[in-house]
Amino acid sequence: MQKYAFAKIYKMNEIRLTSARKAILEHLEDTSNHSTAIDIHEALQTRLPSLNLTTVYRSLEYLVKHNLISVADIGIGSPVYEKISGTPHHHLICHNCNKIQRIDHSIVAPFFEEINDKIGFKVLTNHLVLYGTCKGCQ
Ligand SMILES: [Zn+2]
Ligand SMILES: [Zn+2]
Repeated sequence: MQKYAFAKIYKMNEIRLTSARKAILEHLEDTSNHSTAIDIHEALQTRLPSLNLTTVYRSLEYLVKHNLISVADIGIGSPVYEKISGTPHHHLICHNCNKIQRIDHSIVAPFFEEINDKIGFKVLTNHLVLYGTCKGCQ
């Protein structure tokens, strides 16, 4: 059994995995958080000391283009990257303490279905960001 789900995908699509791309994918598979290019660069310092930030940016671009990772703007100034998991999720961001919470798609799905039923609009958005005030800040 393969430890990493992407191993199967890239074999099917003949994606060229350089050591940088592979290290980035493995890092994103192992973390449940969103990572910016800078986070990833920092995290891989020990593993790939010669890796520079430009290569990280280029590798991320390649991986997004080939649908191996997702990219989202969650309002922190830099795009965040994340592995693509089976079911989509969404985020709640506190405008006061900047805490980011993750919610399951099942919470949002009925809302999307209602839009489809009532307006006939099929929502394709799969990574929503909602701003508000978290429990601790109210
Ligand atoms: Zn996310
Ligand atoms: Zn808060």
